Amino acid sequence: MNYVSTRGEAPPRRFSEILLEGLAPDGGLYVPESFPQVKLSELRGKTYADLACAILARFMDDVPELERLVRKTYTAQAFGSQEIAPLRTLEPGLHLLALSNGPTLAFKDIALQLLANLFEQKLEAQNLTLDILGATSGDTGSAAEYAMRGKRGIRVFMLSPHRRMSAFQRAQMFSLQDANIHNLAVEGVFDDCQDLVKAVNADAAFKARHRIGAVNSINWARVAAQAVYYFKAYFAATARDAEQVSFAVPSGNFGNIYAGYVARRMGLPIKNLVLACNENDVLDRFFRTGTYRTRRPVTQTSSPSMDISRASNFERYVFELVGRDGARVRELWRRLERDGEFDLSAFSSQVRASGFVSGKSTHADRLSTIKAIFQKYGAVVDPHTADGVKVGLEHREPLVPLICLETAQPAKFAETIRAALGREPQRPAELAGLERRPQRFQVVPNDAGAVKRIIEATP
Ligand SMILES: *Cc1c(COP(=O)(O)O)cnc(C)c1O
Repeated sequence: MNYVSTRGEAPPRRFSEILLEGLAPDGGLYVPESFPQVKLSELRGKTYADLACAILARFMDDVPELERLVRKTYTAQAFGSQEIAPLRTLEPGLHLLALSNGPTLAFKDIALQLLANLFEQKLEAQNLTLDILGATSGDTGSAAEYAMRGKRGIRVFMLSPHRRMSAFQRAQMFSLQDANIHNLAVEGVFDDCQDLVKAVNADAAFKARHRIGAVNSINWARVAAQAVYYFKAYFAATARDAEQVSFAVPSGNFGNIYAGYVARRMGLPIKNLVLACNENDVLDRFFRTGTYRTRRPVTQTSSPSMDISRASNFERYVFELVGRDGARVRELWRRLERDGEFDLSAFSSQVRASGFVSGKSTHADRLSTIKAIFQKYGAVVDPHTADGVKVGLEHREPLVPLICLETAQPAKFAETIRAALGREPQRPAELAGLERRPQRFQVVPNDAGAVKRIIEATP
């Protein structure tokens, strides 16, 4: 499989060549040259690991021993059960897909656990080392650290806003004692952390000395790994291969729901991809009006992993909408830089055909949805999942099963659960006392020079 850039000016590359990279050299994102087509009858009945092998082999066809790496990743030990992503039926035709049974209790584990094994193998084969520099407001950083801990040849430097994460999130990251994990608490906000990553990456001389890698959600391996559970959920929710289902997806960077779009393009019978936003509703506005307008300040909400104004994977979807015309994508993103917006309302029929519908959920909606789901079904859902359920139900159609993706466990967001239910969320036993464990982190000023000095000085 060859990969091409959404901006149309980078040479096609194989999967192994794009694995460690972020953006393509022309500033675009890599996408497969075409979407592989699958036969559902050949996939139904497979275990999660077998399904992942079958689907990922289509995208990662030049990875040696892919099957071994996939089987090493998707184990009951790492994800709580052989099912990896169990489907929980709330009532006939309404399901929750549990994606948060990995080590950090959020869906990002499913892709990052695989990514770490792919990285490790490639670095070992080429005798290379890699420094991963990332910025996190919570879930991505911990999923990346738990995936990369102890991996040979990989060091992780994770920037987070000092004193701004929840006590649980802080403890989850900072209590890791692995020598290759470095937590840098930046005196600033999340945007400052992201700017520091950009500033370090912009220093060509520094980059030449240090191989700096990215684990952000534009990495194609992450998208491909996420497409697998849409198939898993489909087979669990249907009896026959002709039935249609819809998915509701709480969205921020557009990575999770874009993976659903990929599954649909591969032949999975998905009726609607229901995109749910929180108060940061840039994507909902796009799907309702055709205008993508990103120049809005990000609001801090009680579903913080969706607090994003520029959805990085969205460019991949726009590339498809405009008929894979890289010149057009370049022009749209030039306009976005200049005007802070672009308009694609002329493409409304393509948007409709792509299956996307959308909606928005606020703090009050989150609380009332958590409460309603608990009262009706006895299930406690996290605030992000609640956003997805709220918007999903608004778009629910009779006779089409609705599968709501559960993206995190409620234990990560105890404050909101207390506000909604007046009780503590349950926590997995192995995380009892997490906040009391010794923590390892260093506070750094909001200064790229300081970050570079730490990377240089770390043995
Ligand atoms: C990252 C995250 C999201 C948003 O997913 P995207 O792929 O960025 O759209 C939603 N919920 C939780 C809990 C997350 O960690």
